[in-house]
Amino acid sequence: MKIGILGGTFDPVHLGHLSISQAAMDHSGLDWVLFIPAGEPRLKVAQPSASANHRIEMVRLAIQDNPKFQVCDIEARRPGPTFSVDTLEVLSAKYGPGTDLFFIMGLDVLGQLDRWKNPVRVLALCQFLVLGRPGEEGFDWPGFYSRVPEAEGRVQVVAAPMVEVSATELRRRLSAGEPLLGQAPDAVDQYIRQHGLYLNEREGRRTS
Ligand code: ATP
Repeated sequence: MKIGILGGTFDPVHLGHLSISQAAMDHSGLDWVLFIPAGEPRLKVAQPSASANHRIEMVRLAIQDNPKFQVCDIEARRPGPTFSVDTLEVLSAKYGPGTDLFFIMGLDVLGQLDRWKNPVRVLALCQFLVLGRPGEEGFDWPGFYSRVPEAEGRVQVVAAPMVEVSATELRRRLSAGEPLLGQAPDAVDQYIRQHGLYLNEREGRRTS
């Protein structure tokens, strides 16, 4: 069994998340992908704007038509800062040695790996499937491998068209009253408007 893991803030979930998950699934023959919204992401400058419950519900709506995508709430329910290594330990014990775990991420996140808690253990527990992201074209691969030599042989780059979308830009648009232009699934767009999320927000202010 091969399971993909997409960790993130999903504040809100958008088409970039769906697109990289599908590309990773096609590339490596994943059986399914777990979307795992973080509780308190440790490496983000600001804490999530929308509550964990809202972010989980938006992910659920975004993936509802794809039975191979599932939402997992273990990070959102765990108190304190989110560490991927803790999540991987839980999933590894749950699924056992017959299952390979693949952490899906954009290049922006890979570049921060040396700041994660216990990156060596993370790399022992899963392989990485990495996708390009606008703004990361000049990624310093030699520098990355010199900082994290254990990543040699554990990182695969998934060739797929880049997707020009970020949650930061969607929050900006929503706050300014601008349309999302199809960059999030319709059901997510409707949910955001129904609950008045991201209106007049400053970075880091939580909407209940
Ligand atoms: P923010 O703008 O708030 O930082 P984000 O759009 O990066 O959010 P996250 O939920 O933080 O979204 O990202 C989860 C994962 O998805 C990360 O590994 C990130 O690199 C990846 N990702 C998100 N959007 C894209 C994209 N357009 N292309 C490639 N990877 C992406």
